[in-house]
Amino acid sequence: MSEKLLELKNVTIKFGGITALNEVNFHVNKGEICALIGPNGAGKTTVFNVVTGVYTPTSGTITFAGTKINKQKRFQITGMGIARTFQNIRLWGDMTTLENVITATDVHKKSGLMGALFGTPRARREERENRERAHEILKFIGIDAYAEVAARNLPYGHQRRLEIARALGTNPKLLCLDEPAAGFNPAEKQELNELILNIRDQGYTVLLIEHDMNVVMKISDRI
Ligand code: ATP
Repeated sequence: MSEKLLELKNVTIKFGGITALNEVNFHVNKGEICALIGPNGAGKTTVFNVVTGVYTPTSGTITFAGTKINKQKRFQITGMGIARTFQNIRLWGDMTTLENVITATDVHKKSGLMGALFGTPRARREERENRERAHEILKFIGIDAYAEVAARNLPYGHQRRLEIARALGTNPKLLCLDEPAAGFNPAEKQELNELILNIRDQGYTVLLIEHDMNVVMKISDRI
């Protein structure tokens, strides 16, 4: 039987007079690619925002890996294993491609500020390990050749890929992708499909918002 990784039960969120989500129910099984589709303004990004702790639902429950996460803060939810990308790319433009991913791996750092300031052996080891892991992720995503390039100078398609790499840097169980194919040509979409399937095959669970039905129909296990 499939195991539910994420479950929303009767989730409602109101902003003043606007009900953005009204009694939303759905779940994502462990190891699947689940797509969330709907017209513009339906509330898809708002689902990502309540799942990742940007907003607290007005009512209802969100359960992740057996734990209720409604009231958790964003950093706590990231630490528990939910990562996301954004519809409008949000990278650290002045940082290199590699640094963008290393920053994400810091979420699980144990050595703390003092360790970093005094360069303790533990902090140095963690730094080295995070650097190696960031390179591995960039290789997997296919942009390690750009590791030392400032994120803002990457071609558009690579910036989208870097967003995914950065999300993987937090070592998530669930990866939420918000319109990853936006602005892509058919060949780039095909490559993205292959990448998302590879990500699923590596053991990650994927929740996908996407308007392009060609992408959705080709790779989703459930819609
Ligand atoms: P799109 O496909 O265009 O990205 P969407 O399905 O992701 O749309 P949302 O961005 O989630 O839709 O928006 C759903 C509704 O909630 C919209 O009417 C939007 O204006 C409203 N909404 C979302 N966030 C807020 C907020 N912080 N304050 C007020 N209204 C909001």
